[in-house]
Amino acid sequence: MKKIVTVLGARPQFIKASVVSHAIKKADNLKEVLVHTGQHFDANMSEVFFSELDMCKPDYFLDIHGGTHGAMTGRMLAEVERVLLLEKPDVVLVYGDTNSTLAGALAAVKLHIPVAHVEAGLRSFNMAMPEEVNRILTDRISRWLFAPSDVAVGHLRREGFAAEQIINVGDVMLDVALHHGGLKSTRPGLLEQFEIHPGEYVLATIHRAENTDHPERLRVIVNALLRVAAEIPVVWPLHPRTRAILQQLHDWELLKRRIHITEPLGYLEMIELEKNAGLIATDSGGMQKEAFFHKVPCVTLRDETEWVELVHSGWNILQPPINDVEIAKTMFARIGVKGENVVPYGEGGAARKIVSVLRSVS
Ligand code: UDP
Repeated sequence: MKKIVTVLGARPQFIKASVVSHAIKKADNLKEVLVHTGQHFDANMSEVFFSELDMCKPDYFLDIHGGTHGAMTGRMLAEVERVLLLEKPDVVLVYGDTNSTLAGALAAVKLHIPVAHVEAGLRSFNMAMPEEVNRILTDRISRWLFAPSDVAVGHLRREGFAAEQIINVGDVMLDVALHHGGLKSTRPGLLEQFEIHPGEYVLATIHRAENTDHPERLRVIVNALLRVAAEIPVVWPLHPRTRAILQQLHDWELLKRRIHITEPLGYLEMIELEKNAGLIATDSGGMQKEAFFHKVPCVTLRDETEWVELVHSGWNILQPPINDVEIAKTMFARIGVKGENVVPYGEGGAARKIVSVLRSVS
């Protein structure tokens, strides 16, 4: 029996890990130990995904959150190391690009435990992003690089990784989207609750530091969404960080009157809103891909994106948050627009491929 310790801690990681954890459970020679760092800890940023996506409770909850990036990552490093010394796994599995990803990988490699990185090879080429630093360093110290696309494979090859380390498995988020999105409705009655109609609303999410930590950029985004909301409903589930900043900086009461502002939603509610939206406006990586999976156009409110295939194929357009009039104009123009028929992230089955590699670890 081989033991895998999975280290995770943030919302998108629970979603990605859910399908891999299920596949591990089905494998006869693998056992998974789940370590939740505590990076996201609110019930609607963490627990809801474990219950909706039918995941086992974490074996360890480290309760580490808040503080500066360095302090948070350092505390995680020490605590994950303690768990690894106790558990002595054969492999450490990490996802994406958060501080939990880097801490898990670094703790493992220093104990000579091989690391498997899911969503390897993504690059924004913007080292000011904490995520870019985390993903480059994690790739560097990983033994298996599970890339979601040919573009990601290309980045890794150019950076000099050995061909046998790089495995294009496709995107695990597609596995999750196919599993749940195939259902006719994941949350019947949700649109009625918001008094919105299929194809006739915009779904927005904003959480990246490059937007939330720059008042001018956030103001442009808010003003753009207010412009759009004057013509067509906008639903905006707010990340806790974004909410905290918006409540300080903006006319909160006005925002709540004009825009359907909600708490962070569960995955099944989110899918229902994504599938039926006329447009998704976001700075989230996962949302850009889910827009494509559900064939909904996307406007990305950033200067660059890691998921360039979606821009090239016309499903997504980059709109840096500089001018609210321009952004609102783009959003109106993109509603209902479809891109090319492309298959950049495989056809599902990423989790199965990852587990088949992990099963053969000697
Ligand atoms: N998501 C969710 N509820 C929300 C907002 C997002 O379930 O209120 C899901 C979304 O469907 C996607 C994932 O969270 O699967 C994206 O995570 P996030 O935007 O936090 O991180 P990123 O993808 O940018 O790393």
